[in-house]
Amino acid sequence: MPHDDFPAGTVWLVGAGPGDPELLTRKAARLIESADVVFYDALVGPGVLDLIPPGIERVSVGKRSGRHSKDQGTIDALIVAAALEGRRVVRLKGGDPAIFGRTAEEVAACRTVGVPVRICAGVTAATAAAASAGTALTLRGAARRLVLMTAHARDDQPLDLDAAMLADADATVAIYMGRTAAASVAQQLIAAGRASDTPVLVVVNASLPNERLIRGRLSALAFLVETVGDRDPTLLLIGEAVRQRDPHVVRALPHRAVSPA
Ligand code: SAH
Repeated sequence: MPHDDFPAGTVWLVGAGPGDPELLTRKAARLIESADVVFYDALVGPGVLDLIPPGIERVSVGKRSGRHSKDQGTIDALIVAAALEGRRVVRLKGGDPAIFGRTAEEVAACRTVGVPVRICAGVTAATAAAASAGTALTLRGAARRLVLMTAHARDDQPLDLDAAMLADADATVAIYMGRTAAASVAQQLIAAGRASDTPVLVVVNASLPNERLIRGRLSALAFLVETVGDRDPTLLLIGEAVRQRDPHVVRALPHRAVSPA
């Protein structure tokens, strides 16, 4: 069936998922194949980039913590300019575009000049990480809320998490961009009233061949992330839902390096 959702001059903000190309939606794959140009982030997995057909222009606008290649204003201007030239633009973002993805800015930049812009959802790091670990993020009666938050503080400001929210023992907390601030996160959660033996699951490179799962308790969070490299995307999952109940479920998986709890 032909699609009419990608006329010339349109921008699609497309979720690339956590890295494994099989976790890309079929819609995302089709949009990538129909694009004239693809602007992509550093977090987009190499297997996903391989799906961009030769002949389609690809532009890295990769941003990684501390290593900016293009600032957000430049990225906004690039995608808008390409669309105004009448090109079909895919803006490929790691995970889901709507979660810590600067999507609001890009949508606003397009709308301001009348460029049609749409969003294609993707699998976010939190759900991919939980799936890899064989765990649920919610648990009847014990983990009734899921909080997605970032612990990425601006350079000039101390990390200031919301204590009331953190004290909620019924919440599973998924922390994006939290590796550097891990010590501070643990300290603030415990100060807010979370038990120091609350289970923690650190997932590095979720869904990629070099994925690692590291388990422990909240009081040891800073220690748990110590061996994680600067450039490896890392998600912190905290709460009763990620308590390891059946170690065999995880250990039976191939190519998973699992640290003892
Ligand atoms: N839009 C993305 C998040 C972008 S913020 C999403 O929905 O997943 C970037 C942060 O996401 C990283 O610092 C890391 O905390 C997390 N992340 C993204 N991909 C990841 C992966 N494959 N494994 C672990 N964490 C990941």
